[in-house]
Amino acid sequence: MNIAIDGPSGAGKSTIAKILAKELNITYLDTGAMYRALGLKAYQSGISPSDEAAVSELIDKTTIDVQAGENGSIVFLDGRDVSAEIRQHHISKMASDISALQCVRIYMVDLQRKIAARRDSVLDGRDIGTVVLKDAEFKFYLTASVEVRAHRRYIELMARGEQCDEAQIQEDIARRDYNDMHRQHSPLKKADDAIEIDSTSLTIQEVKDKMLDIIKAAK
Ligand code: C5P
Repeated sequence: MNIAIDGPSGAGKSTIAKILAKELNITYLDTGAMYRALGLKAYQSGISPSDEAAVSELIDKTTIDVQAGENGSIVFLDGRDVSAEIRQHHISKMASDISALQCVRIYMVDLQRKIAARRDSVLDGRDIGTVVLKDAEFKFYLTASVEVRAHRRYIELMARGEQCDEAQIQEDIARRDYNDMHRQHSPLKKADDAIEIDSTSLTIQEVKDKMLDIIKAAK
């Protein structure tokens, strides 16, 4: 069984996916973390995400591995655990920019399909229901207003001790939404057969219960 959860940044996808994976005893794969890992490598190598030839070369020299950890996916970049580093605010933009490149999408989709083929999994991302796992048994599209999403991200970054400005975060999220939805390759959009859930005024528990009810009713 595979579950696809797509949607814009900060809608609660990864939090929900982690809980669902635990309750259903299946694997959670955070696909955004994989784009972030490559974004981090490009950043550290001084490579611009607009230089597709350089990024393509970089991919050939890069190993990204994702393993299930107690608190979600643990991401290894060339054997090094970068799970915390990839959450830095400036890496979000690198990940979004780099994810627009076709060579990056081909590499990631292949890797994600291989991981999902091995075990029952829940994957969260932008193109899971539309590209990576078109035949997933369950597809959800999780949204929320940009204000609520920015506020959630602000709380998360502050809790991690990162100094940030909520208005700036909202602006960055809105720009990333635009980029993710308007890129040429695999833009973020709801799959025709995905169930849309708006989490603006729902708690995590309520979203999780909605999804679990749908999954259990179909079994
Ligand atoms: O989900 P997260 O915010 O960690 O993802 C970081 C970036 O990676 C997104 O803004 C998006 O551009 C990209 N991404 C993607 N396809 C996915 C997952 C993430 O393009 N399946």
